[in-house]
Amino acid sequence: MTDTSIDDGQLYIGGKFTQGSSGRRFDVTDPSTGAVVGTVADADPADINTAVAAARLAFDEGPWPRMSGRERARILHKAADLIRARAEEIVRLESLDVGKPVSLCLPVDVLTTAEQYEYYSALAQSVDGATRPIPINAHAYTRREPLGVVAAITPFNFPLILSTSKIAPALAAGNVVVHKPAEDTPLSALFMASLLSEAGVPDGVVNVVTGHGSVIGDTLLEHPGIDKIAFTGSTAVGRHAASIAGRNLKPVTMELGGNAANVVFADADLDKAIGAVIKGFVFNTGQFCMGGPRLLVARELYDTVLGILAQAVPGVPVGDPRDPVTVVGPMAGARHRDKVEEYVALARHEGGRIICGGERLELGGGFYYQPTVIAGLANDSRVVQEEIFGPVLTVQPFDSEDEAVALANSTRYGLAAGVQTTDLARAHRVAAGLQAGIVWVNDWAMLDPAIPFGGVKDSGFGREYGPEALQSYTKVKSVVVSLA
Ligand code: NAD
Repeated sequence: MTDTSIDDGQLYIGGKFTQGSSGRRFDVTDPSTGAVVGTVADADPADINTAVAAARLAFDEGPWPRMSGRERARILHKAADLIRARAEEIVRLESLDVGKPVSLCLPVDVLTTAEQYEYYSALAQSVDGATRPIPINAHAYTRREPLGVVAAITPFNFPLILSTSKIAPALAAGNVVVHKPAEDTPLSALFMASLLSEAGVPDGVVNVVTGHGSVIGDTLLEHPGIDKIAFTGSTAVGRHAASIAGRNLKPVTMELGGNAANVVFADADLDKAIGAVIKGFVFNTGQFCMGGPRLLVARELYDTVLGILAQAVPGVPVGDPRDPVTVVGPMAGARHRDKVEEYVALARHEGGRIICGGERLELGGGFYYQPTVIAGLANDSRVVQEEIFGPVLTVQPFDSEDEAVALANSTRYGLAAGVQTTDLARAHRVAAGLQAGIVWVNDWAMLDPAIPFGGVKDSGFGREYGPEALQSYTKVKSVVVSLA
């Protein structure tokens, strides 16, 4: 393989790579050049049926759910070791598929994935029940059992991390998985399937079906062989998936869209705060559900902060993801850049003032967009209220703490939020008032497999990471034994 080509991808079902029933393929594009670098099998509903049958067999009759937690832990830890050993190869694949700068892809995407397997390999040994003393002559205890076959549906922006945030806890608890990665970014899912097999995960425990959500999504969501739906993606598709889950009474985790506010108070350490603001909106080229695209700044700092951003943001290195100095790569696809262009045009139309950026960047045929800062928009502007999912920051002033919290909470989303202040009491007070699944104080994007994240309001429900995620892949059974 060269740096800009891939092996053609196949479906991974029952421990084997297979072409899929239709024989159709779809293109994989390098976002930094726009060039097609390979193709992947384009699955049909029949392939979903085959994958669920393989998963069902692995769960109902295979060794994985019957192993001790310690045995599963050894295998998951071996997976982490293999990820670390093959990190360079995985970085190349993920960077090629998503356009991620290699300098960030290693520590962020690849090593976090290894850490998730390490973390859940430890927790695999902690799945236990409780004894409950009761006032009748009986021994009562609870068992935590795996749910069964998990349908994992994942988005394009962090393919490795977000599939692992489902697969690692699901496997740790003894479940099996049918994974449908995003059509834009299927490569690392196929790589991980074979890596997990090499680590010792038995056949049928992890199955990967690449294809289009519009073609195979409903078959997976509706399948009677599925026991849980773990979905990460847009609020619109999540709402559709949750409605199917509701009708079929299937447990769900919904990790959906976001539009977080970063609140900078007048007492903030300004250098740190500006760092958090810039990181918050350019990280992963703004394709970050927990990004901070809405800056709320104390009115007395408003002009100063706009001046600093106008100077600093154009200096953020944008370019070839393979260049080690690059911080912002291309967007993951042409349609994602087109969407950002439409929102920036709308901002201009709505009277927004472009402080910096505001244009696409013509670089080697890739899908680049300049990091963009926009001031002067009303809070009810669509550009402020909706999820843009690109490197765009809107800036609004506030006059009081109460107003800052109200503005921060004024969108339909509630995934993340940030507070920049040196006043400790204010930090805790504002964190408590923000409607979000995670609040960062004096930085942005501090994440770890031990810290749960997830949404409120239209950002979804359920939590990934932490012991909370492990528990969400188990069910409790009570056993009461008469001692009479
Ligand atoms: P998307 O909703 O378009 O797609 C997500 C997944 O759903 C893809 O695999 C897609 O193929 C699949 N899908 C599409 N139609 C389907 C259907 N009818 N049935 C079943 N599956 C279907 O999202 P995207 O554009 O890939 O990702 C961006 C979105 O994801 C943003 O809104 C972002 O905020 C959100 N996101 C949320 C989190 C989180 O943790 N809350 C993390 C990352 C991304």
